[in-house]
Order: sequence, then C-alpha cells, then structure tokens
Amino acid sequence: VLDIGTPDRAVVTTCAYCGVGCQFKAEMRGDELVRMVPYKHGKANRGHSCVKGRFAYGYTTHKDRILKPMIRESINDPWQEVEWAEAMEFAANRMKGIQEKYGRQSVGVITSSRCTNEETYLVQKLTRGVFMNNNTDTCARVCHSPTGYGLGQTFGTSAGTQDFDSVEEADVIMVIGANPHSGHPVFASRMKKRLRQGAKLIVVDPRRTETVEGPHYKAAQHLNLTPGTNVAVVTALAHVIVTEKLYNEEFIRTRCDWDEFLDYAEFVSNEKYSPEATMLVTGVMPDALRDAARIYATGGNAAIYYGLGVTEHSQGSTTVIGIANLAMLTGNVGRRGVGVNPLRGQNNVQGSCDMGSFPHELPGYRHVKNPEVRAIYENLWGVKIDPEPGLRIPNMLDAAVEGTFKGLYCQGEDILQSDPDTKHVAAGLAAMECVIVHDLFLNETANYAHVFFPGSSFLEKDGTFTNAERRINMVRKVMAPKQGYADWEVTQMFAQAMGANWNYTHPSQIMEEIAMTTPSFAGVSYEKIETLGSVQWPVNDKAPEGTPLMHVDGFVRGKGKLIRTEYVATDEKTGPRFPLLLTTGRILSQYNVGAQTRRTENVVWHDQDVLEVNPHDAENRGIRDGDWVRLASRAGETTLRVTITDKVSPGVVYTTFHHPDTQANVITTDFSDWATNCPEYKVTAVQVSPSNGP
Ligand code: SF4
Repeated sequence: VLDIGTPDRAVVTTCAYCGVGCQFKAEMRGDELVRMVPYKHGKANRGHSCVKGRFAYGYTTHKDRILKPMIRESINDPWQEVEWAEAMEFAANRMKGIQEKYGRQSVGVITSSRCTNEETYLVQKLTRGVFMNNNTDTCARVCHSPTGYGLGQTFGTSAGTQDFDSVEEADVIMVIGANPHSGHPVFASRMKKRLRQGAKLIVVDPRRTETVEGPHYKAAQHLNLTPGTNVAVVTALAHVIVTEKLYNEEFIRTRCDWDEFLDYAEFVSNEKYSPEATMLVTGVMPDALRDAARIYATGGNAAIYYGLGVTEHSQGSTTVIGIANLAMLTGNVGRRGVGVNPLRGQNNVQGSCDMGSFPHELPGYRHVKNPEVRAIYENLWGVKIDPEPGLRIPNMLDAAVEGTFKGLYCQGEDILQSDPDTKHVAAGLAAMECVIVHDLFLNETANYAHVFFPGSSFLEKDGTFTNAERRINMVRKVMAPKQGYADWEVTQMFAQAMGANWNYTHPSQIMEEIAMTTPSFAGVSYEKIETLGSVQWPVNDKAPEGTPLMHVDGFVRGKGKLIRTEYVATDEKTGPRFPLLLTTGRILSQYNVGAQTRRTENVVWHDQDVLEVNPHDAENRGIRDGDWVRLASRAGETTLRVTITDKVSPGVVYTTFHHPDTQANVITTDFSDWATNCPEYKVTAVQVSPSNGP
C-alpha cells in the first residue's frame, strides 16, 4: 500500500496532456504534490481521468529538469549556467544583431500547444510587436492546421461544433482517423457508454484499433481503408448520400447555398466516386461503404469525431472539408448529438490556434491583411503590424538552410524530434546564429541551441487551457516555479530585454487584453471562469455564459459552403523497394514523443515502441513475433521489435513514436498537406526486413 501521507491543501487545475481537458484536485503537502484526484465538477471529465492525467506528473520534479538558464557562443561549446538577466541580455543582443544584419524577417518563433493561452498570446505579441514580423507558428502546424483551414472554409471558424456532453444524444457516431480509446480516453468512455446504450458506430481507420470493438459494443462498420485514401472514402460516402437522395434538402436549402449544392452533387455523383470504383483505390468493400453512408444519413443524430489520421496527410485539409460536407448534406450540425468534432491531441491546440499563433492570423482567426484588425493591435501596442503573412515552420527551416532565416525562439516544442525529415530540421537549426530553446528539459532541439531558458510545468503557473470543445479551463499554480519564473514571465523578460515596455504582473491581465481585442473572447474573464467553472467560446454579449453548440441558427460564415473534394493520390508510392505502408499512432499510457510520460512511472506500461506487422507479411519475410527488424523508407531507416498481429492488414505496418530511439521521423517523408503544410506523417512507403537489433 502506497503511503501518500495526509494532504494539507488541494488546488483544482487542468490536465496538461490531451485535448479533453480533464480537471483534477492537486492534493499538496507543503510543497509536495501527493496525488492528483479527478475533479467531480470538471465539466469535461465529471470525476473521471486516465492514467496519464492521474499518474504521469512525475516529470515535473524529474532530475532531468533544467533549473538554471544557460548560454553558449556556439553549439560546439559546453553550456554555461548564468543568471536570468545575463541569459536575457545574451539572447536579446543576438536577436537584435541578427535583425540588424539580415533584416527584420530573419527571426521568428515557434510556440507550443502545451502552453497556456496567455503564454501563447504573449509569444505572438513578441513576434508582431517586438520582432515586427509575422514569423510565428505553432506545433499545431504538424497536427490540426488542416482543421483550421477546412472548418474555416466550410463553416467559417476553426473549432469543434459541439460540446462533449452532446455525445450522449448521438444515435450514430462516426470516428475517422482517431483512436479515442488511447488518445482521448475520458471522452472515449463517454462515447462507449452511448454505444452500449445502442448508438451505432462507424470507424474509418486502416488499423483495427481498440475503438472498433469493446465490452458490449462493436462497430456496425469498420471501413478499413488503405492509408492515404481518406478523401476517396468521404467523397464516396457523399456519393451514396446524394445518389440515393438521403440528403436533408430542407437543411441544405436554408443553411447552405443551393446552387453550390447542385455543383457539389454533380461532382460527387460521378461514377469514379461510386463505392465500386472507390474500392479499387481504398480497398474498402462497396457494401460496407454503402451501409456506412446509409447509417450516417438516416440513423438519427449523427456525430463525427476525427483526429490526426485525417489531418496528417497531403490531403488533410480536403478530408476535413469532406467531413464538413457530410454533416451539411445530412443536416447534422447545430444541435445536440451531431456535429463535426476534431479530437485535439494536445491540451491547448485549440487555444494555441485561437491566440494568433499562425503566421497569417491575429488572435481570433483574423487575417493579418485586414487593416481594421491590425489597427486594433497597432493602437493598443503602439507599433505598426506587418500586413504580410509570415513564415510557417517548414518555410523557416527552408529559409534557414538557404541562409536568410537566422534566429528562432522555440517555446515548449522539440522540433528536431517532432517534425518530419529530421535531417532537414537539423540542417536548418545548424545554420542559425541564435536558437533559443525554452523548455523543461534539454531536448533534442537544444543540441542546436545557443540559449536555454528553463521552463515551468503546468503545476507552477496560472493561466488557461482551451480544450477540444472550446472550453476555457483554469490552470492554477500549485507550487512555485522551480526555476524562478512562469513561462509568461520569461517571455516578458525577453521582450523587455529586446526593448519592449511590457509590465504584466499576472496572467489575468493578459486575458483582459485578449478579451479587449478578440470578439470571440470578449466576455471572458478569470472572474467569470472562477464563477462558472469554465466557459466555452464564443463568450460575448449574445452568449455571456459561453456557447456549447456552434452554428445553431446559421454558420459563422453565413451560409455553409459545400466544396468539391477531388481525391488526389499521395506522391508517396509503394514499389518493389518499399512495398508496405507505415502508419502511426499512440498508446493509452504514453504521450506523443514521450518527453513527459517517459519521465514518469507510466513508462512501465510501455518501455519501447514496436512495429505491428500482419502475419502474412511477417511470414513472407521470415520474421517471428518479438524479432528485431530494420524499417527502411526512402528518407532513412531505424530498428524496431515486431509484434505480429492482424490488427493491421497485409501491406500495412504500424508503430507508436513515444521513444526517441524509434526515430520515427527519420523514416517519414517531407510531403505535406497542400493547404497548410501539415506533414504527411500517416503514410510512408517502407520495407521491413530481419535485423540483429540496433
Ligand atoms: Fe488528461 Fe486527456 Fe487523460 Fe483527461 S483524457 S486525464 S485530459 S490525458
């Protein structure tokens, strides 16, 4: 029996892992966190939690944490510990020197979906108001940027349409490219409860995930598609709905543009999107596709939940548009039990995007080209904002290799481990003259850094996170920052060292500025969140207590927009040298590249990544369960142990990417989404062959 002692106080705060946004009581004894207790009044979790939020907080006190700022002249020199003031002066002088020598566009920032709204807002303010450019991007670039584009185009705003409670009234649940069982476990348990009550489940996924079947429920259809063919599947579903006249004419006539519908209907009715033709591309049986379309269109309230298996493709944005099309065709938007709901991977992906982290948008998804929006910030900050969009992460790295981008402030993001084409990322970082890494740990990117600002954990700061249902939850400081300052204070000190006159004394003041300048946050304040427990944006005069359901009477953009979704095969092709397709995912106990969870006791449940191989492919290669294999792609190779399983079909292999040894991004390609540059992590042509191990 674990003796945890008696806590002397408890502070309610929000989980820093996935986008469900569970709330916990952090029970403290003195300065020591003794346990995290799921908070029964947490509106996203209602007293439930998963093994990450509940147990995986040990990283916050792990010995690997860096607690002193560090600098070095060159990346070949040893790190030198310095005081904060010296680190700030060193970093600011370098960045100022770079801008003087190479111009104001030669520096930029990358911010993290792990940080609070207030921290993220300050980082984009640093870029626009101090660096005087729009070179700000977020790690959402590599996960949900297609959601931003696709839902923005079709509905008018980049956010999930319903609240989590809404799943309790869904009659049909379609899960596309997501495995909530592992990735969003607390939402999954609410979804499974509804499935056990009789709601029908359709899963679109190249792998038979744990979501497909569970105790007392089973998917009515699992559309087991070839990786990379999502657009063909969603367009074929629309083909069936249109050609069998299963669409909701009244909804389309009142909420969309009828002429656009006629154009779209003509497009999807083409025989090349029939289930039979689609089978040749996707491998999905026509009857299964037809049945899934009929269930979705006629089964009552139908809700779609999707994840990175949708977005991380060369046609990620097109698939998001295709999903929105399905909801509009069938009238499944704007009431409880329906909707289009991106399952956000990180705790604050939604907030990171809301806060203007993208290089083309100011907070609230307003384009930097809009002079009226720029004027709001220009008047408040006393600066002139660049009207031209800045560089995305891949563009920053390309420009660095070309010699025009020289300085990067990277907060809470390990781009060397997380971004595709590791060699190119390393080359870009190596070519810069000032890389500032702001993180808890000396991560892989820090190998190329000149300055290290030690970061604070979620337990050491106040602020807010916004979850996948647009719910703004409080993050509360339960202990003093071990390295002295919360991350928003570090960014402020850096801005001051660069010459800015910033004087925030608490993150609530930053939220006041966000509310003053961002219409969808106009009614948000810490007082209101404290009173109501949380609020879902938009919060304004029309909805002073927030908005659980969006697009109820009309879409944010006015009429919903049905857009053609032409399927274009990825350029990543299989062939004799690389005949298999690799796709990736997560397991329940671990989180992303494992920087946090590997430094907790959760690692006992998963001490290495393994490659799942179908028995047919394993036998053809003389591979046995547990063997080491060489996994090679056109980009690179690595070594993994094998699990032989029919969860993956012949021709498909699968791995998680929680351990750095796996080097998954040495394997992945540099293909990316046509609209947003989100990397195509989910499709890589590979070969698997026996190996003696690393
Ligand atoms: Fe944290 Fe997500 Fe688990 Fe909830 S479901 S405890 S938010 S990781």
